[in-house]
Amino acid sequence: MKKPFLTLKKAKEIIAKYSTPLHVYDEKGIVENARELYDAFSWNKGFKEYFAVKATPNPEILRLLKKEGCGTDCSSYTELLMAEAMGFKGDEIMFSSNETTAEEYILARKLDAIINLDDITHIEFLEKHAGIPEKICLRYNPGGKFTINNQIMGNPADAKYGLTRSQLTEAVKKLMSKGAKEFGLHAFLASNTMGNEYYPKLAQIVFETIVELHNETGAKFIFANLSGGIGVPYRPDQPKNDIYIIANGVKEAYEQTIRKSALKDISIYTELGRYMLAPYGLLLTTAIHEKHIYKEYIGVDACAAHLMRPAIYGAYHHITVLGKEDWPCDHVYDVVGSLCENSDKFAIDRKLPRIDIGDILAIHDTGAHGFAMGYNYNGKLRSAEVLLRSDGSFELIRRAETPKDYFATFNFIPEFHKYR
Ligand SMILES: *Cc1c(COP(=O)(O)O)cnc(C)c1O
Repeated sequence: MKKPFLTLKKAKEIIAKYSTPLHVYDEKGIVENARELYDAFSWNKGFKEYFAVKATPNPEILRLLKKEGCGTDCSSYTELLMAEAMGFKGDEIMFSSNETTAEEYILARKLDAIINLDDITHIEFLEKHAGIPEKICLRYNPGGKFTINNQIMGNPADAKYGLTRSQLTEAVKKLMSKGAKEFGLHAFLASNTMGNEYYPKLAQIVFETIVELHNETGAKFIFANLSGGIGVPYRPDQPKNDIYIIANGVKEAYEQTIRKSALKDISIYTELGRYMLAPYGLLLTTAIHEKHIYKEYIGVDACAAHLMRPAIYGAYHHITVLGKEDWPCDHVYDVVGSLCENSDKFAIDRKLPRIDIGDILAIHDTGAHGFAMGYNYNGKLRSAEVLLRSDGSFELIRRAETPKDYFATFNFIPEFHKYR
């Protein structure tokens, strides 16, 4: 069973003020989960989570996570600006980008962020445009297939990211000759993983490679960046990952590799996005139409422009009809948005309680890669974002777009007042 973190009553209070569709986030859930992550990794003195800003790029979310000790993982110019505006500086910012522009490297250097280089050719590029920092990270792509228990979890050989194994050695030597003194190694080999085995397996690869690189070059490695990829149970029948089992698995790999090497001690960094936020966001939307043709449809006031994952990946997002949590799921619906795209379906052949016009639907697990992937197709406007505080109060943390926002980048602006 999946339970939404708010009741119909609370949803109605929020909607009375800000109207659907809207994204709402659960402060209590976010904070408790972050604390649990830090607790699970407390065996590693330097542990730090760099929240992947792209998952939920909202300043108030960053503020919450900063209080819990998190840094930011940025991938673009504007994400760097947001991190800086929220008071993150220096080592609190990881810049894990790819196909990076000179402008982005210059800003990252100005903020003294840790730069995570995606390619060996970027050494010269970075040197030319922004200079080589003393502390730097390299992204590793081991190629081949990434398997856990003979199951293919990812396909690094097809991924555009990272340096090959032999390039890593060359890159470390080159960077040392150009003044780099402290190194980190990063790898991201599978996404939304379930079952607790991904991080330990990844950590083994990253730690072994760090030890090898240290032995080959003498470079001082100070951290391993395990990046993102821990999954969340989108389906109600999936068990949640156990962060304590995951952290212990990483610890075992650490004991067998880093501890036995001359390095002895390095910090573990993570760049989790989905795991930090997905379960703690709901997309609230109102049923505004029902349609009976070859199938039964419920039309809602949100669409793929507010949550793209079902349309592009066929991703499952659980739906609760608020106030009908205990009703039997004896109806079968396609729950659809208004885009002129047949893929704009939040649910297909979903068993749900009877839905009446005006019912409020909570679409689950939209806290990461939800609002963030929004867009303006069909002239749709992005929704508001609301933060539900631990004490039950709520706060608008991003207003909804208006037509004026939509037209802001053109040379003409319609005379909106005529249509009021
Ligand atoms: C997307 C991304 C993340 C976060 O991934 P999740 O699956 O949301 O945990 C972390 N690091 C990098 C470099 C990414 O591109």
